[in-house]
Amino acid sequence: MRAWSVERPGPVEAEPLRLVERPVPVPRADELLVRVRACGVCRTDLHVTEGDLPVHRTGVTPGHEVVGTVAGTGAGVADFAVGDRVGVAWLRRTDGECAYCLRGAENLCPHSEYTGWDADGGYAEYTTVPAAFAYRLPGALDDVVLAPLLCAGIIGYRALRRASLPAGGRLGLYGFGGSAHLCAQVALAEGARVHVLTRGAEARRLAVELGAASARDAYEAPPEPLDSAVLFAPVGDLVPVALRALDRGGVLAVAGIHLSDVPSLNYERELFYERELRSVTSNTRADGREFLALAERHGVRATTHPYPLSEAPRALRDLKAGRFDGAAVLVNDLS
Ligand SMILES: [Zn+2]
Ligand SMILES: [Zn+2]
Repeated sequence: MRAWSVERPGPVEAEPLRLVERPVPVPRADELLVRVRACGVCRTDLHVTEGDLPVHRTGVTPGHEVVGTVAGTGAGVADFAVGDRVGVAWLRRTDGECAYCLRGAENLCPHSEYTGWDADGGYAEYTTVPAAFAYRLPGALDDVVLAPLLCAGIIGYRALRRASLPAGGRLGLYGFGGSAHLCAQVALAEGARVHVLTRGAEARRLAVELGAASARDAYEAPPEPLDSAVLFAPVGDLVPVALRALDRGGVLAVAGIHLSDVPSLNYERELFYERELRSVTSNTRADGREFLALAERHGVRATTHPYPLSEAPRALRDLKAGRFDGAAVLVNDLS
């Protein structure tokens, strides 16, 4: 099969991704072999490709928003069959026995593994996934529309929950890419008033179209104090900006896996009155299942920009340059 491989991480402009020939992977006893139909392009893929995240597997194939078809099953798999449509997401494996796993926080498992980082992901004709970590997908939705829900959507959903938005509350979203525009749809469907704060004029237009109450530049103040905010832009400079936008008792959740340095905070202006700053680390399978069910019920839709899988590097370059809003999705044109 053909697969994209991160030969040596570096700036995408220097083409660190190579299209290589590899044997079709053999699933372990508890895994599925999945023929990739579509794979969303996540900012984390950019971090893996450029080396912002340390190398966990030399020559790794990125991609962890995979919609595919089961093409084979390991000997120990009973609950999936060849032909089933499945989703493969970021969280790939946990030990299932540490204190975090046992208390329902498997996203914090120190022995967790991630698709497209610890193991080869979906920028390829085939990939594998432990059956226990594969998602069954709602039947009605198209592959391309579904793919970004599998990371951007699930992470955005966890970030929304981590921001503890009260019912009917005022939510600020800093940055408005793939994850934020899905998070916004869930929040709006649940009755929140949503303010989007982002630099792109195109993204601000999309935000208003989706029903945001306001859309302004990221460094402007929202029109009203916020109960909750989620920082999607990987920009540490925005942390104090967003904290200052919070009402007393408000919560800011930082959604990204990677954030530039946070400048020093002023306790009185940015944290006092019980404002809280929280990080968001990966997600649990329960988050994923909850979000996929909500997405189906509320008709959450990703705004997508399809690219052929054979042009994965161009999709990453365009993501880095901010050439589109919403989410890029690679469609398998290699097989
Ligand atoms: Zn664990
Ligand atoms: Zn992702």
